[in-house]
Amino acid sequence: MAVKVVQRPELTFWEKTYLPQIYCGLKITFSHFFRNLFLHIAHSVGRLRHLRAGVTYQYPEELRPLMSRYRSRHRLTVRDDGTPRCVGCMLCETVCPARCITIVPGEHPDPNVEKYPVRFDIDLGVCVYCGYCVEVCPEDAIRMDTGILDLAAYSREAMQLDIHELMDPELRKPIADCSLEFPHQCELTGGQMKGSWSAEPAADEP
Ligand code: SF4
Ligand code: SF4
Repeated sequence: MAVKVVQRPELTFWEKTYLPQIYCGLKITFSHFFRNLFLHIAHSVGRLRHLRAGVTYQYPEELRPLMSRYRSRHRLTVRDDGTPRCVGCMLCETVCPARCITIVPGEHPDPNVEKYPVRFDIDLGVCVYCGYCVEVCPEDAIRMDTGILDLAAYSREAMQLDIHELMDPELRKPIADCSLEFPHQCELTGGQMKGSWSAEPAADEP
């Protein structure tokens, strides 16, 4: 097999100084800077509005506006009484291509509602944000409209959302002692879990 030897090109004196490359980079940077400065000043006095100027969002203090169809962190919608709308049909778990949804359905005490999710977990570390779970749900019980984008965590476990966090997007880990029996007494208020998830009300609850 023939081997083609490619010689390393010799740099010229000016290329070795990197001054031409620095000059080219600064020329591009300053051309953008002065163009945007000029256009923003023109826009402020109502001129040249048909020309778009660059916009910098001061993230994380200032969040970029999201499109209404943007798929952000999941949430479970709730009924008027605060219980999840989900009827445990398992369609979302079945359709999920990443297999990151885990549902354990239970029999609902209301005969008009067949089932409810005893457990509903989503592993965001595995989710590919395809939105299939939202599309397939017959009850509009799961949505991806929280607008929450800061999903980074220090561990894989922290990327796993349970039913508490899905029902209240403000809620953060950890909730480790949930027995998830129905009907539970817990309330999610101001990002804090109140009460107990056992069938009996907690001692400090009214
Ligand atoms: S967005 Fe897609 S990958 Fe993520 S939980 Fe829903 S179906 Fe699964
Ligand atoms: S979220 Fe919707 S699709 Fe998934 S189990 Fe509940 S009702 Fe079924």
